[in-house]
Amino acid sequence: MNERLTERLANEASPPEAAPFAPHIAVVGSGPSGCYTAQMLKKKWNDAQITVFDRLPVPFGLLRYGVSPDHQSTKSISRQFSRMFESGSVAFVGNVQVGKDISVGRLREAFDIVVLATGLGADRALPGIAGGEVYGAGRVMRWFNAHPDELLFEPKFGRTTAIIGSGNVAIDVVRLLSKHSVAFTGSDLDPSRLDKRPNEIVVVGRSDGGSARFDSAMIRELGKLDDVAFHVELPDHPREQNPLAVAKLEALRELCDEGRHVHNPRVRVKFRFGWIPLEAGNDSEGMFLRIADSETGNKTDLLRVDSVVTAVGFRGGLEHEIDRAIYESDRSNLAAGVLDDGLYCVGWFRRGPIGGIPDNRADAKLVTEQIVSDSERSSLVADKPGFESLAHNLHSSIVDFDGWVRIDRFESETTTRDRCRTKVPDVATMLDIALRKSR
Ligand SMILES: Cc1cc2nc3c(=O)[nH]c(=O)nc-3n(C[C@H](O)[C@H](O)[C@H](O)COP(=O)(O)OP(=O)(O)OC[C@H]3O[C@@H](n4cnc5c(N)ncnc54)[C@H](O)[C@@H]3O)c2cc1C
Repeated sequence: MNERLTERLANEASPPEAAPFAPHIAVVGSGPSGCYTAQMLKKKWNDAQITVFDRLPVPFGLLRYGVSPDHQSTKSISRQFSRMFESGSVAFVGNVQVGKDISVGRLREAFDIVVLATGLGADRALPGIAGGEVYGAGRVMRWFNAHPDELLFEPKFGRTTAIIGSGNVAIDVVRLLSKHSVAFTGSDLDPSRLDKRPNEIVVVGRSDGGSARFDSAMIRELGKLDDVAFHVELPDHPREQNPLAVAKLEALRELCDEGRHVHNPRVRVKFRFGWIPLEAGNDSEGMFLRIADSETGNKTDLLRVDSVVTAVGFRGGLEHEIDRAIYESDRSNLAAGVLDDGLYCVGWFRRGPIGGIPDNRADAKLVTEQIVSDSERSSLVADKPGFESLAHNLHSSIVDFDGWVRIDRFESETTTRDRCRTKVPDVATMLDIALRKSR
């Protein structure tokens, strides 16, 4: 067939190609859920212009400031997000607190799609458990991770610390408070954080041990700590006997095995399962924590402690500025991450403080699919002006990904031989390093 004819027939057969969908997308929060969502949306729409905002000059949320400093392999998940930003396909805009520096409403005027991924930044409080030496576990972990919000925080653990809760974060705190200093080699933990740790740790858990929220692997990791003696008190009648519960109880029992008997322990850790906290306070003898048995509440005990760490979950930390409820409309469908037309939420901000990093990947997939389906039903159009239109709304100290790379390099290059990095502890210095070149 003649070439011209072939071309004409081909053109007649196929309709004119639709322009690719190229929305302007803002993701608020550069933690795992925000980064996974940006990654998935970019994969779906290569022509999308995606901007990831963060209130800090540095990205990655709890990967940098929650995950324990001695779990560097978990922290290294951030490398895949770095590659996304490095490729230039997604922009990082740090040091912009949405709700303070710019409103969600203004973002919605500029972007076709806005996804809130701001996590939950504050510790959930326990009624009756407050006061001077009572600290939230999230705060303690931020402090161990040199979060700039905790620059002035100086916890006084004293000789005996009680940890309330038995999830993975509680076990992270147990490990960081008891692990031998030398064993932090290769981590990014500031050595000064190890100066004043307790000699005794009491973990108070409501559950029967088997139904505790921690993973057995976290308990087995405790079993490898040098010079730490464990004692585990379980209720008489454990409630759960499913395979997971059996594995947890087995891991707890192994902690106390004759084989790992410690003659002269540096730290003693006691797990007390089946107890709930009633009250913390001070009397003439010092600080106390009063607990009751979780079955009947009839039996109580008074623990003499110097500090209490509560590890019982998280809540929104910036709720006066960013509160999911404010944005929920009659079109909200939280199960799918929809808050309003063109406004979505993902990660801990959407589903609460449940699950680890892989769960945020699944969450990002769910919300991305919802966004794509909304675009296919034409309830989303791409007609907003995007980030450039915010030039007059934003201050000049924005940190882009190159700025973060300068901070990252500075942290790795100025560290000591036994650390993989020394984190810059305050925002002013971060900005100084990040913006140095562009001034
Ligand atoms: C102490 C701790 C240890 C953990 N350890 C592990 C672990 O070892 N393994 C694991 O799998 N999971 C771990 N997790 C769970 C994991 O960190 C979370 O599942 C995950 O980080 C939630 O992701 P996210 O993106 O929803 O929230 P986040 O990681 O909290 O990210 C939220 C981001 O939003 C930014 N932000 C907040 N407000 C604003 C605003 N107004 N404007 C702009 N930006 C804002 C924050 O700065 C932050 O960067 C841990 C959690 C904690 C608390």
